[in-house]
Amino acid sequence: MITAYASSWVLPISSPPINNGAVAVADGKIIAVGPLAEIIDQLGPANVQIDDQGEAAILPGLVNVHSHLELTSMRGFLEDLPFHQWILKLTRTKYRLLSREDLLASALAGAAEAIKAGITTMADTCDSGVSFDALLISGQRGCMFQEAFGVNPADAEQSLNDLSSKIEKYRQRTTELVSVGISPHAPYTVSSRLFKLLTDYALRERLDVCIHAAESSAEAGLLLSGTGSFAEGYRTRGIDWEAPGCSTIAYLHRLGVLEARPLLVHCVAASEDDLDLIEQSRSRVAHCPKSNAKLGHGIAPLIKMRKRRISAGLGTDSVASNNTCDLIDEARFCCLAHRAQERDEAILKAGDVLEMATIGGAKALGLDERIGTLEPGKEADLIAVDLSQIHCLPGYDPADAIIYSCSARDVKLTVVAGNVLYRCGALKTLNEEELKQAIRELGKRITSAE
Ligand SMILES: [Zn+2]
Repeated sequence: MITAYASSWVLPISSPPINNGAVAVADGKIIAVGPLAEIIDQLGPANVQIDDQGEAAILPGLVNVHSHLELTSMRGFLEDLPFHQWILKLTRTKYRLLSREDLLASALAGAAEAIKAGITTMADTCDSGVSFDALLISGQRGCMFQEAFGVNPADAEQSLNDLSSKIEKYRQRTTELVSVGISPHAPYTVSSRLFKLLTDYALRERLDVCIHAAESSAEAGLLLSGTGSFAEGYRTRGIDWEAPGCSTIAYLHRLGVLEARPLLVHCVAASEDDLDLIEQSRSRVAHCPKSNAKLGHGIAPLIKMRKRRISAGLGTDSVASNNTCDLIDEARFCCLAHRAQERDEAILKAGDVLEMATIGGAKALGLDERIGTLEPGKEADLIAVDLSQIHCLPGYDPADAIIYSCSARDVKLTVVAGNVLYRCGALKTLNEEELKQAIRELGKRITSAE
């Protein structure tokens, strides 16, 4: 049987919006997109079951190119701290207070939030590995980037061995939907030796690579001149550090890391020269504007990236820094922040950021042949956003209504590869009440241990 998801608007992204449209799905794939009447004519009324979403917009599932599901229980726990303190408190809490089971509950709660927000694909950076399980259990599509750390060059071989044995285990469990990559965490937590070893490993094993890069002034100080709070932290811990005297992106280029075309998260401090290197290496960018603003890091040069056709998707980052996993809100903030910065009301239209949140993210993750638009032959990752509520009426243009008036709370249907994961308030693969209780308990434990 063919299901035709129908609504007042269908936004294929690859072509103009369709009024009274439908997306026909069979065996997890999109087989037709067009006006509902034409779809029924084409496929035969007896063969089609209509799933009518009413006054709503059906669009491709949202692609979140940067998250940390395991940190969901730290939402609101690290407010207003200086960045160095923020990282220290986060790491201390994660390692001292939370078991693997706790982190899995945290990741599942985050997955539930993401599914309800219409996020069908996640690129999740993870230390404990629990997001791999969370993705499998929740039915979402995604890649888990297994983190690696190590500032002492003498430990680099050991770190690589630890990482590769984890990767081998995850590789035996990858599916059509869930894959694994690696994440050398950041230039202030990974030695140059470890960066080189991990890059060679990724190229040899054809693994995707994700790195936090050019995020903060503390990071820039460490690399440029060996000054600032990260440099202080190194001295306190007795770690030898000779500043390379360049930017993060130039440093990664010198080490050969850009040869792996990494997904570079943040790039707030990317200069014109850095953007040249990103463009020439065809590296990709995860733009996380809300996280960058909330942590006081600044605004990444997205407009310059777009002029250079650098592949950039939108990421929410963890809810410890954001504080919601809401890609519609992220897209709206992206549009408004860059318009304010550029003093230009005409840049980044609703359709542009909607594209970034769908096919743009899919391209950044190398999944654009499979997802990101509503076109026959693609996998059926789609969502419906309610346009009938008072806060988005009257709707003149569906993309404007979604970006300027709606939020994650207006998503009422989430489908991944043809499977319904969420419909009208009810999650199909996860128990929301149980997860809410688990996360409340974790919050209490974290608070009482302070
Ligand atoms: Zn991050």
